[in-house]
Amino acid sequence: MTSPIFNVALARTATGRSVAKPTALPVRDDDGDAMFLLCNILHLRNDKLPSRLPAEALYKLAALAEKYKCAVAVGRATIGWFDRLYHASSQVYVDPCRIIEAAILLDEPTFFARFTERWMLSEPFGNNSLVPAAADARMKRLSTELCNRRTTLLATIRADIDLLIDPCSIAFSKTTEHYIDYAPGMTPDPDDQGRIGSLCRVDEGAATLYLGALRDEKIWPAMVWPASLGGIIETIRLFRVPEYDECDKCDFCEGVKGKFGLLVTLVKKMHAERVWGLCLDCFKAGGVNAGECRYEHAKVKAA
Ligand SMILES: [Zn+2]
Ligand SMILES: [Zn+2]
Repeated sequence: MTSPIFNVALARTATGRSVAKPTALPVRDDDGDAMFLLCNILHLRNDKLPSRLPAEALYKLAALAEKYKCAVAVGRATIGWFDRLYHASSQVYVDPCRIIEAAILLDEPTFFARFTERWMLSEPFGNNSLVPAAADARMKRLSTELCNRRTTLLATIRADIDLLIDPCSIAFSKTTEHYIDYAPGMTPDPDDQGRIGSLCRVDEGAATLYLGALRDEKIWPAMVWPASLGGIIETIRLFRVPEYDECDKCDFCEGVKGKFGLLVTLVKKMHAERVWGLCLDCFKAGGVNAGECRYEHAKVKAA
């Protein structure tokens, strides 16, 4: 009932509800282990199903389900295996390409999003392809979309870091340089001894401290970044604004401490919301899925 292909192949020799004699179905070209699993799933033999399945075996099962057009029935049984692979210890190698392809074949949106996100975050920047050279057109397109998404996210991170640098750099500019309690551009009148007080260094001190901390934590400049997107996001997440005492600040200070602290909070929050993998429904639609996606995500509205 779940597979139109099996249905036709078996119905041809069956008469009505009762089968006259056992029907042999040639499956010599199919993977034996995958076929055994597939039959147990279709016959609801849940007690025969293993609790874990390697990525390669899951992929073979998915390919077989696709071949016999019964991915809908098989999909439910595979959720637990996807989950185990997703939470497997880091010592267990899970081929991201195989598992993502299995998620496409079984139409599994949650783990498609999770595994694409994992690849995007953990893969070093040098690697620009998810798939082997011999991959089919669909998987090549996926690889390109995933790399494009990583590049877009990276650009937003660069822009965010520029946001953090901005209030620091302004402290060193001529336009904000000022004497204590005097607006920029004003020079205090000399006192009896001809002294004119000193330049206010409160903002400059904060900026120097923060830029040093960003550099120490490998957040700025970009040349000191860790080698993966996930590495950069994690360093930003862990960044703590160092303590700075600005009790000497005057009315004409820019308030670098306050601005920088707010921006750090903002940037961390933006990344938490922005970073995720790809949506299977959108990928299958070849861009942005017009209807509701099973994986919840923000969409850019088409103009
Ligand atoms: Zn000042
Ligand atoms: Zn979508």
